[in-house]
Amino acid sequence: MKLIRVGTPGKEKPGVLSEDGTRVDVSAFGEDFGDTFFGTDGPARLTQWLETQTNLPTFGAEERLGPPCARPSKLICIGLNYKKHAEEGGMELPPEPVIFFKATSAIVGPDDNVVIPRNSEKTDWEVELAFVIGKTASYVEEANALDHVAGYLLHNDYSERAFQLERSGQWVKGKSCDTFAPLGPFIATNDEVPDPQTLDLWLKVNGEKLQDSNTADMAFPVRHLVHYLSQFMTLLPGDVISTGTPSGVGLGFNPPRYLQPGDHVELGITGLGEQHQTAVSYV
Ligand code: ZN
Repeated sequence: MKLIRVGTPGKEKPGVLSEDGTRVDVSAFGEDFGDTFFGTDGPARLTQWLETQTNLPTFGAEERLGPPCARPSKLICIGLNYKKHAEEGGMELPPEPVIFFKATSAIVGPDDNVVIPRNSEKTDWEVELAFVIGKTASYVEEANALDHVAGYLLHNDYSERAFQLERSGQWVKGKSCDTFAPLGPFIATNDEVPDPQTLDLWLKVNGEKLQDSNTADMAFPVRHLVHYLSQFMTLLPGDVISTGTPSGVGLGFNPPRYLQPGDHVELGITGLGEQHQTAVSYV
């Protein structure tokens, strides 16, 4: 099942994207796609409910797609999880996953504009596979880690490199600006993604493909990340975890390349759809 949320920011309604591309409004189910939904077998219950429904309303194709999940308790990111990306940043592949948080206020829909923050000169892109927790995870073994994942989604982990790397302290400052976490277009429930380590992922800027890799190249796969994170914190249903980006970010070019107003960013992952963003100045 592909879960979507449609509507103006903050007022999105839950929906399901059918195989023929129809956006079915499932507001009548009575639940948003948040912690309660994911923590109580929501996708299975929604599937059963849909079988009892006829003539559900649909959303128009022109209506805005919001992020496909309600605001999670945590948006956790993994740094330097692809070997080539660590090299281009001039950094060693870490012995353990690098973890950082991204403010959940940065979350937007998949096709919303990305706002280049005030005083930013180094806004950069990062196509990433993200996943949503479906079952509370604390001290989880790697062998059953994927049982705790409800589904997968596309994420562009926008990053302001000067804020992240030149302003001292932790990376979070360069990761949390408004609009820096487009999610979606949909969450593909885990039955649609039998193996998250076999997915192609790519990103283009103004039509030029700059990132082009496969999740097979991750240093730490999804099952290890669930296990690893759960040794330090409890992952709650609805939490979103982003698994790091492959090479081809702006920082890695010589000279580096960063987004300018008017630039167009497109990205996608096998089976998880595409995002399209236009960069605009902060006003
Ligand atoms: Zn990232």
